[in-house]
Amino acid sequence: MERPGAARPDAAGFDAAGFDAVRIGAEIARRLGIRTSRDEPLARHTTMRVGGPADLYAAPRNRFELRGLVKLARARAIPMTLLGRGSDVVVSDAGVRGLLIHVRAEGHEIVEGRLVAEAGLPMAKAATVAAEAGLAGLEFGLAIPGNVGGAVWANAGAHGSDVAAVLESALVLAADGTEAALDAAALGLSYRESRLKHPAAGAPPEVVLAATFRLASADPAVIRARLDEIRRWRREHQPLGIPSAGSVFRNPAAGPAAGALVDGCGLKGSRIGGAVVSERHANWILNDRGASAADVRRLAERVRATVERETGVRLAFEVVFLGDWSGWAEEGA
Ligand SMILES: Cc1cc2nc3c(=O)[nH]c(=O)nc-3n(C[C@H](O)[C@H](O)[C@H](O)COP(=O)(O)OP(=O)(O)OC[C@H]3O[C@@H](n4cnc5c(N)ncnc54)[C@H](O)[C@@H]3O)c2cc1C
Repeated sequence: MERPGAARPDAAGFDAAGFDAVRIGAEIARRLGIRTSRDEPLARHTTMRVGGPADLYAAPRNRFELRGLVKLARARAIPMTLLGRGSDVVVSDAGVRGLLIHVRAEGHEIVEGRLVAEAGLPMAKAATVAAEAGLAGLEFGLAIPGNVGGAVWANAGAHGSDVAAVLESALVLAADGTEAALDAAALGLSYRESRLKHPAAGAPPEVVLAATFRLASADPAVIRARLDEIRRWRREHQPLGIPSAGSVFRNPAAGPAAGALVDGCGLKGSRIGGAVVSERHANWILNDRGASAADVRRLAERVRATVERETGVRLAFEVVFLGDWSGWAEEGA
């Protein structure tokens, strides 16, 4: 099927982003030993289960592969997009132009009361690995279906804690190719914020290669009880098991939470196509009936406009709209 908004590669292999995907794929295999695929459907790699194909897709399995891929993409001036577990993104139906780097580097070790983890380690796994080592502080990670890199990028948090509270440093590959271990202050971590979210105009994104979390020794039984408590809370309060990207909007700095504002406008159950505002948690949009990315975005925009009209509060998106969104509003409108 022809994908909307994206030209097929021509006979020479040049894709919509203007690079030779065949040649670059071969170079990645030759230099880095990483297999790539063309037109990889991204819906399967995101928790919202929407999104078209990536022109060229690679899944580095350790930080050396990740570093090598990023450097090669920059050296060849290929547009590059990072994807963690895809739990905070809505990928467009047209997909992603250029190289999509799906970070799957999951190496980790416990060193002197710290968890040192590569960017692709799932936060839930980080929580259980730390717990098994008798180290407390990362239990909130159980509630975050993203990986370490995505969590640092978002300063993800839950249950009264966040990345900033336990991060000693993150190893970041900067836009100029240099690497540095940056602490929470240098990363600008605050409520769901980091400097990684705001690359300089035209600059490639900064990349989290790994992170070190400073943790506290604790009785493993106490940590296990805390993990059980978080598991129970999530089951009771969150519409798990139906594709979503968690909270769509950030909570405003003051006043009611985003979910309360959405609920107050009577928007629970509001639907466009296969996307619906959760009855259980008004700040979540669920893909319960095979939604397109455009369904999700149209519904999110409608919710935002309604809340602004009725309350005067303009909500900011927590989720990121990734990929080629040109012309999405007109399609099927
Ligand atoms: C059911 C559900 C519940 C959730 N609950 C919470 C919650 O309680 N608290 C909370 O904070 N969040 C929550 N989230 C949101 C999400 O899990 C977090 O924001 C998470 O940190 C995103 O990580 P990810 O790996 O999925 O990132 P992705 O969604 O894959 O990517 C997000 C952004 O980070 C960038 N990125 C990814 N990897 C890197 C890297 N290595 N270096 C630089 N940039 C990178 C991507 O380019 C993209 O712009 C929830 C999501 C879902 C689906």
